[in-house]
Amino acid sequence: MISFTYLEPASLDEALALLAQHGDQSKLIAGGTGLINLMKQRLVRPSIVIGLRALEGLAGIEEKGELRIGALATLQSLAMAEPIRCSAPLLAEACGHVATVRIRSMATLGGAMAQADPNLDTPPVLIALDAQIVARSQRGERIIPVDRFFTGYYETLLEPDEIVTEIPIPVQPAGSGTAFLKFLPATQDDYATVSVAARVALDGNGGIADARVALGAAAMVPVRATAVETALAGQKADEKIFRDAAALVADAIDPIADFRGSADYKRKMAVVHVRRALAEAATKAKPPA
Ligand SMILES: Cc1cc2nc3c(=O)[nH]c(=O)nc-3n(C[C@H](O)[C@H](O)[C@H](O)COP(=O)(O)OP(=O)(O)OC[C@H]3O[C@@H](n4cnc5c(N)ncnc54)[C@H](O)[C@@H]3O)c2cc1C
Repeated sequence: MISFTYLEPASLDEALALLAQHGDQSKLIAGGTGLINLMKQRLVRPSIVIGLRALEGLAGIEEKGELRIGALATLQSLAMAEPIRCSAPLLAEACGHVATVRIRSMATLGGAMAQADPNLDTPPVLIALDAQIVARSQRGERIIPVDRFFTGYYETLLEPDEIVTEIPIPVQPAGSGTAFLKFLPATQDDYATVSVAARVALDGNGGIADARVALGAAAMVPVRATAVETALAGQKADEKIFRDAAALVADAIDPIADFRGSADYKRKMAVVHVRRALAEAATKAKPPA
């Protein structure tokens, strides 16, 4: 392990000041489940590590119309929290599928977003739920839609002096149904070979009023499948439209071949799982009477 200085600010202001002072030389640490692995592999070598765990008020989960999730909320707390299970069951379900309870109890949602590993489960879920990232620095605050946050492999729009403080999720379209499918042919605690998050809202005539589809482990970044969404808009929700729209995802992704499968295999699995996720989300949707 490389040597580094560990600093633990007691307030957000103090953390922002440390980041402004040390910038590129420093790295934040929340749950540590991602950063420590990167440091062990010497892929990142911060001389200063800034611990966020002492910051109070950044782990909350509140529902005031929209859901407001503090960046330090753990994936385990999100899997269990009543407001998340009621108003964003897609997120609760996906968090419940991450690794093991020991990892989920350390890993934070803010850490997962900042890590920007395209294989993670939560980024496609937050894209499907139309969530945002609130980033703070001494220069101020900015709000970034999650579907524009990821810029490359382990890369985001975050500047070195910014901290993710909150992840707001808007009220979802009335009666919409959601589905999260994580294709895991190896072991239950593995990363996905491909994952799909889908949200479908129906109108009173069985037509598709709104659809959002996003994938993990399907490219260098989490992918929002806008071609699939466009093909679904206004169409009758049936097997054929789900099959035809899902086929379009093959050209929207660029999977990385690895020990979980070739790029071609992952592309085929993505098509299958998008179709299944759309069908499941539509089944759960409650159209207006
Ligand atoms: C064995 C194992 C199995 C796993 N399996 C899965 C899985 O099946 N599915 C899945 O989705 N994930 C999985 N993960 C990954 C896990 O979800 C992420 O590592 C975790 O969410 C990252 O959160 P963290 O709080 O631990 O981040 P950290 O490791 O503390 O930080 C990760 C990165 O984010 C930065 N950072 C952290 N917090 C902030 C913040 N508030 N603002 C700005 N930057 C920040 C850090 O500087 C660092 O670059 C697994 C991890 C392990 C170790």
